[in-house]
Formats: sequence, C-alpha cells, structure tokens
Amino acid sequence: PARTRFAPSPTGYLHLGSLRTALYNYLLAKRTGGQFILRIEDTDQKRTVPDAESRLLQDLRWAGLKWDEGPEVGGPYGPYKQSERSALYHDHAHKLLDSGHAYRCFCSTERLKALAEQRHRMGIATDYDRTCASIPKEESDDRASKGQSHVVRLKIPEQHPTYQDLVHGVFTPLKRHGHVTETAYEDPILLKSDGLPTYHLANVVDDHHMKITHVIRGSEWMPSTPNHLVMYNAFGWTPPEFAHVGLLVDEQGSKLSKRNFDTDITAFKEMEIFPETLTNFAALLGWSHWRKSDVMDLKTLIHNFALKFTKGNSTVTFGKLHFLQRKHASLRAENGQQGLEVMVDNVVRLLKDPETPYKDWKQMVGSSSPEDFVSRVIRADAENYTNANEFLYRNSFMFSPIRHPSSLTNGSDIAHAAKSLADVKEWERNALMTKMHEIIDARPEGKKESKDVYHYLREALTGRKEGMRIYDVMLIIGREESLARLGV
Ligand code: GLU
Repeated sequence: PARTRFAPSPTGYLHLGSLRTALYNYLLAKRTGGQFILRIEDTDQKRTVPDAESRLLQDLRWAGLKWDEGPEVGGPYGPYKQSERSALYHDHAHKLLDSGHAYRCFCSTERLKALAEQRHRMGIATDYDRTCASIPKEESDDRASKGQSHVVRLKIPEQHPTYQDLVHGVFTPLKRHGHVTETAYEDPILLKSDGLPTYHLANVVDDHHMKITHVIRGSEWMPSTPNHLVMYNAFGWTPPEFAHVGLLVDEQGSKLSKRNFDTDITAFKEMEIFPETLTNFAALLGWSHWRKSDVMDLKTLIHNFALKFTKGNSTVTFGKLHFLQRKHASLRAENGQQGLEVMVDNVVRLLKDPETPYKDWKQMVGSSSPEDFVSRVIRADAENYTNANEFLYRNSFMFSPIRHPSSLTNGSDIAHAAKSLADVKEWERNALMTKMHEIIDARPEGKKESKDVYHYLREALTGRKEGMRIYDVMLIIGREESLARLGV
C-alpha cells in the first residue's frame, strides 16, 4: 500500500495543475489500499494568501479527494501543517550541522548579492562561493551562540546523486545554465536566518516522518530532487519513489495562462462543470491508460489507475472538457438520484429567476412540478448537457409556447399529413410511432422519404433543425401543445 501526499503551499488556490497532482497521489493511494495525506506547506509566510488554505480544503473536498490524514481529520503523524512543526525542522538542521552535512553561513545579504552578480558575469553556475563551508565547527558554534545572524546551508557533495524517476527513468542532474565551471550545485539554504525552515528541509523531513512511499509532483520540482536525495543520504533514510509529471500547455504549446485554463478551480465550478468531469479531465492530462473509453468517474479512475505517465507536456483543450461533461451528464441522467437533482435544481433556479427570458415557462410545465418537467427534459437531452444556461438555450422550445405563421403549418402536403397526428387520442410513444408510420406510408410514391416528414415535424415543433428525439419532444410538451404547434 502506498502512502502518498499532496503538499500545497497556501500561496494560491487550487488550479488545474495542482488538482491533477493531488488526484494522481490520491488515486495511487486508493488503488493500493494505502493512505492519502494532505500537508500544508506554509513555510513561506510572506507569500501566504489568507484564505488559500481553507479554499484548498474546500476545493479538494468538492472534487471528492478525501484525505485520510491531514488538517481537520488529524492522524498519527501530525500536525499536518508545517508552521506547527518548526521544532522538528530545527532539530534536524542541527543533526546535519553535527554530522558535517550542513554548515552555518554568516554572509550578509549584501555580500551574497554582489557575489552572485560577479560570479554570473564570470560564467560560474552557482551564486555562492562556499566561504562559510570552511569555518571550523567551534568557531561556527561560538558565533551562533553570540547571536550572529546566519542561515544553515546543505553541503552538496561533488557528485550529485542520480535517481530513477518513475516517469523519466534515470535522472542525472544537469548543470545549471549550461556553461558550468564547477561540478557542485548551489548549497541550498535549509534554515533561514529567522530559524524557520525552507521548503527543501521541511519537505524532506516531513515526507520521511509521515512515511511517504511515493511522491508524484510537477516536473518543475525535478531540479530540487537531487538536493533532497542528498538530505535523505545524509540522514541515512530511504527516499520515497519520485514521479515528476509534465507541464500543462495550451493548444499552441505554451504554458497555461490566466486566459486559458490556468484559473483556480472556482472557474470550473462557475461553469457548472461536475466534480467527476473535472477529475476525469485532470486524470487524462498525462496519464496513459489502455481502456476503450476515456469516460471514468472517480471510482473507475481508482480501479484503473496505474503509474504510467506520458513523458512530455500535456495539452489542455476545452473540447475535451465539454465532451466529458456531456458524458457525465448522461451518466447522471441514467443513474437518477442526487447527480440529476443538482442539474434539475440549477435549471429550475434559472427559470424561477425574475429576469428569465422564458417568461411563459409555467404554462409549459402545466400541472406537473417544475422539477418533474425539467427532469424529463434533461433525461431526453442529457447527452448534450453542459450547464443549465446553455441547456435552456438549446431547449428553449420546451419552455415557451411556439406558434408558427400558417404558411408553415398549412403550406405543404407534409403539413397536411402531419395534422393527422390529431387522430392519436392516447398520446404515448407506441401510438405516436404507429401513426407516424401510417403518415409516411400514405404519402404519394416518390415522397415516402421519412426524413422529410421528421424534418418538417422538428421545425414545426421546435423551430430548430436538430435536437432531441422528436418523440420525446411530443411526449414532453404533450398532445395539446404539439397539435397547436402543428396548426391543428
Ligand atoms: N509545497 C510544494 C508546492 O506547493 C510541494 C512540492 C512537492 O510536492 O514536493 O508545490
């Protein structure tokens, strides 16, 4: 069983990319009967957005990603918020100081800045010259005890560890900037001068203490992983497995921007995208499965999940999102129950809005309840449902009486034939079908094309050239309204 975690920093809200990361971790844990842990990485207090944490929890819950351990639910390895674990990080930084894997750096910010600029000009890949790495331990302890301001840096060995990435295979750390004159990487800061940890230290310490077995995260973290492995080695810990998943890009191949999808999850909620649509959509962005159908709810995703990710970037398209939404709408309509109720309620709410353009909708609903009526319409056209507004627009003929000029309803011989639908007294599907066949058969030779008849009926009944099955239209709007539209 895998123990996985989603470790967001509350510096922003949940986006499509971070939802995907959370989802993959969730799916792996659930697939293997393990646990999914939520950890809040709030080490960068300056960048913390006040309501980000509560929104993250809320959005994850909305998406159905229930965490087994974490904020609000607790667990054996808590607290699950890094700002409440400072002592642990402090202790571990000191362990590394004692074992010689880390050192205190007393350099001033001014010196570091000037140094970095100078080294850049010289084409040296790292910003820092490691002056403080050679300060003897006693002197370092002494200066610290006198209160001299410092950070703690990890001492990166000459040879950076390579590792086996579950997506990319063997990962050999590349050298920064491409024109490197030193083999060593930057010695990353582990503890800041205020004694608080950086992401690197807190992340590694927590993954170890929380017994994380697999880390699935965005490829932007890949350059940090070798540094993390240095720490695992220094502590003598076994590192988790890593899988770095590719970037999300738009159809032009550029990184997602505010204009194309890189909005927080709220935007999808506002579009009335169902949670199961969004998790389905996110899951397919970089995960390769071999099933026939791409349409999977969360349970099915769990069942089918395997650690098989595509290597490159993943393209995000609106078309796919809407395709999945329509598929899940159909599933909701088939299953009835709560999923369908939510759709019905959204549509009814729009109808009841005083500003509704469908002024005469009550007349159409007649004696049934608005919910029952809307539910029937949804079930007849679920395969095209994306959201309530769009649905009403598509099916507006269901919510306002349509009357045609007599030229349409009297003009052609089809119009004439269609009027014989009035003979059907018992307005139900079989009777209507039988009558329709009669109408078509009775037409003169050479004019028996049934599609012409259906075409005519559709236009007369709905004012459209396409849409839901014509029998559903007639049954839902009823005998009287159908005949009135046909000019009977
Ligand atoms: N706190 C990091 C983030 O916000 C976590 C990265 C990781 O998963 O290690 O993305």
